[in-house]
Amino acid sequence: MRKTISKYEMLGPRDRIMVAVSGGKDSVTLLHILAKIEKAFPDVVLCAGTVDEGIRDYRDEALKIAEENCRKLGVEHRVTSFKELFGYELDEIVELARNKGLSGLTPCSYCGVLRRKALNSLAREAGVDKLVVAHSLDDETQTMLLNIVHGDPLRLARSKPVLDVIHPKLVQRVKPLCMVPEKEVVLYAYLKGIEFQSITCPYAQTALRNDIRTMLNRMEHKHAGTLFTVFHSIEKIRPALEAYAKEVELKDCRACGEPTVGDLCRSCQMLEQLGIL
Ligand SMILES: [Zn+2]
Repeated sequence: MRKTISKYEMLGPRDRIMVAVSGGKDSVTLLHILAKIEKAFPDVVLCAGTVDEGIRDYRDEALKIAEENCRKLGVEHRVTSFKELFGYELDEIVELARNKGLSGLTPCSYCGVLRRKALNSLAREAGVDKLVVAHSLDDETQTMLLNIVHGDPLRLARSKPVLDVIHPKLVQRVKPLCMVPEKEVVLYAYLKGIEFQSITCPYAQTALRNDIRTMLNRMEHKHAGTLFTVFHSIEKIRPALEAYAKEVELKDCRACGEPTVGDLCRSCQMLEQLGIL
């Protein structure tokens, strides 16, 4: 992971950093590793941020685990919630979408878009320079293939290990675990006795990502190294994609003021569709 951080110049010796901690194995392990590395850099300020989406019988436990890990490590922990930011919990949003007969989007679609916005707000309020997310090699390759399956290959140009800063309101995201296979993260967590949430999200089964994960895991099992090959192939073609993808000019969303390409940002579009904007 240290190699990845220096290869992509992800973090600097004077950075203020927020780690997005869900309570799951990847994010909690990343927090432990960064807290350890941070000791060698006295000017670095490290904190953790958690978004409570409002998922019954799941998020409460994860939140406790995130808090407990932060307490042990002496890391400041900030929390925000969908309820606080959008007025509704994810469970309520899923229920609303069902009642309105909106079958086009899965719970993961709502959660992904709203969580991204919530995390950015949390990081911006904390005044940090970098928002560190715990996407592993598995997550990254799944996302790459998902973009292709969704027919949105130009997203591959933007979804990099270190995201470009395209607007002052968007905190730069970096992914130090992007070249670490998930099984190595789990192994590290077990060896170090790190406590994390082991149950999966009750909504996870609904996502297309699940099918892609199963396919990639089968490939990796039969042909070891597949995940790295996919990752490096995309790295190779990304400069060509970046040259092809037009630079977009961001405007302020007319409802919330956050940066967006259109008139309304994706989150506000979703909330409007649900009748709760
Ligand atoms: Zn908006």
